[in-house]
Amino acid sequence: MDNKIVVPGEFLCTEEEFMAYTGTYVEEGIIRAVVMGRPVFDLINRRVYIKPVKDVKIPKSGDVVIGLVEQMRDEIAMIRLLGYDVNKPFKHEFRGVLHISQASNSRIQSLYDVIRIGDIIRVKILNSYIPYVVTAKDVKLGVIAAYCSRCGAPLVKEKNSDALRCSSCGNVETRKIAPDYMFTNKR
Ligand SMILES: [Zn+2]
Repeated sequence: MDNKIVVPGEFLCTEEEFMAYTGTYVEEGIIRAVVMGRPVFDLINRRVYIKPVKDVKIPKSGDVVIGLVEQMRDEIAMIRLLGYDVNKPFKHEFRGVLHISQASNSRIQSLYDVIRIGDIIRVKILNSYIPYVVTAKDVKLGVIAAYCSRCGAPLVKEKNSDALRCSSCGNVETRKIAPDYMFTNKR
């Protein structure tokens, strides 16, 4: 918790642990941040407050960011938002929720048809508070790097085909890929 930055709405602790003080609010016994900043858990006075920070860029509605599929079920996935660019990561950890209705323009039965854990995906953020909600629907959005569910090797997009084939074991999988998908077979 020491150097972590929290964003508005983020969970801090329960009311049993600390008293809500500056920059926080209570909702059903849970203390959350009102402002972005560093949470201070004052053990002497048993209260929690936020030291606001202003110089930190936080993602907002409409931003297009690169994320890592961290956890998922059939209908929902948790995306760790890495940065605006693969080479320019955020200094702090942000996460977004991707619902199946926002994952693809075509009808899909399960999120597993379009993303898998470990994929790198480009998403657009739809709100400006926690929890972030993201979409992968637009043409330019989607998976930019996918890895084989069996062996972890990169999945290669064949020319003139939507199928992704494992470069190592030959396993074939599907994704909702972005136009600039990283592993493509040019032949
Ligand atoms: Zn494989």
